Amino acid sequence: MKKQQKEAPAAPPLELAGDFRMTRQRQAVYDVLMGQLDHPTASEVFDRTKAKMPTISLATVYNCLETLTECGLVKQVNLDRAPSRYCPNQKEHGHFYCESCGEVSDVELKSGMRPTTSYRLPRGTKVDHVELAIKGVCPECASKE
Ligand SMILES: [Zn+2]
Ligand SMILES: [Zn+2]
Repeated sequence: MKKQQKEAPAAPPLELAGDFRMTRQRQAVYDVLMGQLDHPTASEVFDRTKAKMPTISLATVYNCLETLTECGLVKQVNLDRAPSRYCPNQKEHGHFYCESCGEVSDVELKSGMRPTTSYRLPRGTKVDHVELAIKGVCPECASKE
């Protein structure tokens, strides 16, 4: 684990979708994600949640992650052939994936940049959301090469 200083994610939106209720288990899962912004997989989230709430099951953690993702508090990060990871950062950002150490980190857009205006989208396209994944070697791994 790197000691790199990470900016705290923006606070979650106050208005949440429909009938969402923050149950104890959802809160515990959410706290785990907010506690360490390293994009854990569901099984890593399970291990960390279990340390604080020993009775929680893997199925419950999966359900909580699904609900938190559906209501927009958490983003699911999909990298090909790897299990999904979870990210609570509400700011618009992309993900950098280090192919050497496997770490996933948040990358922010430069100010004024919007992914929807940086690409030539066909006129009339309605963008729902943008997922930006950048792969390569992180500075630490690159310095060891
Ligand atoms: Zn690396
Ligand atoms: Zn992220």
